[in-house]
Amino acid sequence: MSKNLSEGLAPEFANGGVEEKLQKQNVSLVERTVSFVSLGCPKNLVDTESMIRSIEEKGFRVVSETEQAEIIVVNTCSFVTDARRESIDTLLEMTRFKEEGKAKLLIGTGCLISRYQEQLPDLLPEVDLLLSPSEEHSIGDRLLSWGSPPQPNLPTLIDPRSIPFRPKRLTPPHRAYLKISEGCDHTCTFCAIPLSRGLQVSRTREGLLDEVRMLGDEGVQEITLIAQDLTKYGSDLGETEGLSRLLEEIDRIGRVPWIRLLYAYPTQVSDRLLKVIRDSETIVKYLDIPFQHVSGTVLKRMNRPGNKDSTMRLVDRIRKAVPDITLRTTFIVGFPGETDLEFGELESFVRWAKLDHVGVFPFSKEEGTPSFGMEGQVLAREKTRRRKALMRIQKEISLERKKSWVGKVLPVLIEGPSEQSPLVLSGRVPGMAPDGIDGEVLVLSGQASAGEIVPCRVLRAHPYDIEAWEESVPEDSEISLGGGHSGR
Ligand code: SF4
Repeated sequence: MSKNLSEGLAPEFANGGVEEKLQKQNVSLVERTVSFVSLGCPKNLVDTESMIRSIEEKGFRVVSETEQAEIIVVNTCSFVTDARRESIDTLLEMTRFKEEGKAKLLIGTGCLISRYQEQLPDLLPEVDLLLSPSEEHSIGDRLLSWGSPPQPNLPTLIDPRSIPFRPKRLTPPHRAYLKISEGCDHTCTFCAIPLSRGLQVSRTREGLLDEVRMLGDEGVQEITLIAQDLTKYGSDLGETEGLSRLLEEIDRIGRVPWIRLLYAYPTQVSDRLLKVIRDSETIVKYLDIPFQHVSGTVLKRMNRPGNKDSTMRLVDRIRKAVPDITLRTTFIVGFPGETDLEFGELESFVRWAKLDHVGVFPFSKEEGTPSFGMEGQVLAREKTRRRKALMRIQKEISLERKKSWVGKVLPVLIEGPSEQSPLVLSGRVPGMAPDGIDGEVLVLSGQASAGEIVPCRVLRAHPYDIEAWEESVPEDSEISLGGGHSGR
């Protein structure tokens, strides 16, 4: 498994290529300023944060304005076609700063690089260095080793100890993402992530707990644990129930009021995990379990376990164990061969489950994945129709769910002024994940600042957002502002 990712790259892109290329161009870095563009998901953002640390340790300075940077790093995403297009467009756009501005070096990192490592050097000759995710931790050394001989080959697999602490965060000061593992052991036929990120590698529990303590000391109010599959955390370290154990220990630290979990795998939601969520004061009663589909035949083609009955049983079991939990999922519609009947199963499940938040994505053909060439590809307009149909059903359910909050006093984490109006504050209840994926609370009157968790009374509900005002709470009130509150 130690195939080097630099194999197959054109010589100037292999290890040591930066120095050679710069020397050939006769350029030198004077200010050692670096600007980052981070595309894609929160997991990529955490990688960007790690790279920032790596280069700052080597004496480089991160600047927010691209115009001011001698080095530009674009951390790319290859999740779906649009993400790939955006990554390539961004790299091309950045070449302008090399042609017209002060930038001397353009670096591409992230998933796109590992997926297209053979094609990219020819496609994007303007990019000076390409680093796959497993090589990103060496970015500081690569830049520093200017003129030194090429480094020895790097292993493909990511050593968990190489995922460092992150003193620099790109998220607002009051919240952080914590990536607990990298890669994925599943083999869903539509997904390219295992191709670009490899098998799962978990970070050590000690390292994660230290980071939680550090973030707590910094005053972080919400940590979102992320991974391709949180529920498999620790299996590569020989642990069982690794996530539950980790959460129990994070809960004992107790310094961060909201701990959120993003992405559980349907068959891995154990009773112990649900008990930890139920009993915790800090772990938000919120679970995002991407079901992708519920029809047994579609799931089989997706190489995922389960069917409609097992998914219904799972939802029931979760709600029995944690009655006030907020549930979120995502579905793919128009997977190859999806019939009207199979789609109908999905519709009836959505009506039955009444989940709080549902994302629906039309199937996107990903090169290199088994579903790319599957028979029965669904026409684009049909995929759009199915997506709209599902979203229409869910929109009413979302509104119904949010109406049940009206009149309640809920803890709201204030994010800052709302983009909808500077006169209104934007915030989230525990049942809403960060970065706008689940809507926002519009706080119509209140004095709170960004990063504060304040009680708010819900006034009105919309399908995705709610309106509320800040509530003054008597000293002896028992309202809990911790994540253990459901926010529902
Ligand atoms: S579990 Fe998620 S990340 Fe892993 S292969 Fe399936 S879709 Fe991809």
